[in-house]
Amino acid sequence: MAKENYTIKCSFCGRDKKEASILIAGQTGHICENCVKQAQVIVNEELSARQPSHGVAKFTIPKPIEIKKHLDEYVIGQEEAKKVLAVAVYNHYKRINQKVKDDVEIEKSNVVLVGETGTGKTLLARTIAKILNVPFCIADATVLTEAGYVGEDVESILSRLLQAANFDVSLAEKGIVFIDEIDKISRKGDNPSITRDVSGEGVQQGLLKLLEGAVVNVPPQGGRKHPEQKLISINTQNILFIAGGAFGGIDRIIARRLNTKAIGYASGKDREKTNQENLLKFIAPQDLRSFGLIPELIGRLPVISHLDQLDKSALLRILMEPKNSLIKQYVRLFDMEEISLTFEKNTLDFIVEKAIEFKLGARGLRSICETIMVDAMFELPSEKKTTSFRITLDYAEEKLRKSAINKLKAA
Ligand code: ADP
Repeated sequence: MAKENYTIKCSFCGRDKKEASILIAGQTGHICENCVKQAQVIVNEELSARQPSHGVAKFTIPKPIEIKKHLDEYVIGQEEAKKVLAVAVYNHYKRINQKVKDDVEIEKSNVVLVGETGTGKTLLARTIAKILNVPFCIADATVLTEAGYVGEDVESILSRLLQAANFDVSLAEKGIVFIDEIDKISRKGDNPSITRDVSGEGVQQGLLKLLEGAVVNVPPQGGRKHPEQKLISINTQNILFIAGGAFGGIDRIIARRLNTKAIGYASGKDREKTNQENLLKFIAPQDLRSFGLIPELIGRLPVISHLDQLDKSALLRILMEPKNSLIKQYVRLFDMEEISLTFEKNTLDFIVEKAIEFKLGARGLRSICETIMVDAMFELPSEKKTTSFRITLDYAEEKLRKSAINKLKAA
């Protein structure tokens, strides 16, 4: 028997034991590590070619409680908005996955979020998209104009979503769009204007068809449609729109409505402190209408929620707690330089106080931190000896005093 001549070879490429570093034995043959890799590539290609891209059937939706839990990791407070959004999003994607088409048609649950700037509206929408792993884009309502006027057509929103989806139309058709500053396209005054309202009502009209669900022809690269450009058709039926706005002054509208209703039973003692924060809790569609959104648009944004103002303790938590909080990011950056970075508790309080003083909300935390940290981030990487660095209150105060950011105070 010629047993000694028998060498183990890869049954696919023929390399023997000496040439291949790993040979895996099967029942009747062997395979080397190279062929395993190549086979994997072929399998991946085959599978993705066979699937209708990102087939709806495969799309698993986390339950509302799970969605909320994920949101908690990134967004501080805003319990009510998180809950409402989790339910809206869950129902929205459940509707997409709905197999039986009977006479119960689940309506689209586009959302409108009302709350001051920097309270987390965009963050909520962005985080939801991240959790669900769907394409996401932000559109600024103020740059949109009615077709034919200078500015962007409403379709440009979808161009952006398409880009976020890497031009995969079926993926874009399940994406999430955040329309920022929806309050800025409100009708000026309660009367429909006599002159044409280019930036307001016309844009609201333009948004209707997107929000409701329609097949829209989109210039893939954005910008204006022009005759030579190839357009791509996108069906907006399953795109979730989340609109956000500060709606400054809407508290007075809510107060007016509540007070008229409250006559007769609200005694002075029972009447709640009417600051904006707790008035927003009572926001209702008719307030958006009084503010200047047209009823048709409000009808297509059936889910309304509000965001609370961020107080000192919320800002402090934002600074430290979220998964990618600012402080965690700085610590990580310094860690990469093998420097252990710490912050005095007083420093954190100081940063928060400044953010409140500058009226910048959570948005201000970042610029204040950058101002405090920039010198250290500039110098320390070149200093081999430093292994730890503590940001004391004195240090922070001094950095801020010297910087231009202090001028914000006057603004
Ligand atoms: P808005 O859309 O309401 O104007 P953003 O969501 O853009 O505000 O918030 C700006 C930044 O402030 C966010 O990127 C985030 O870093 C921070 N931020 C705001 N609100 C929160 C929050 N509730 N929890 C955590 N971070 C927040």
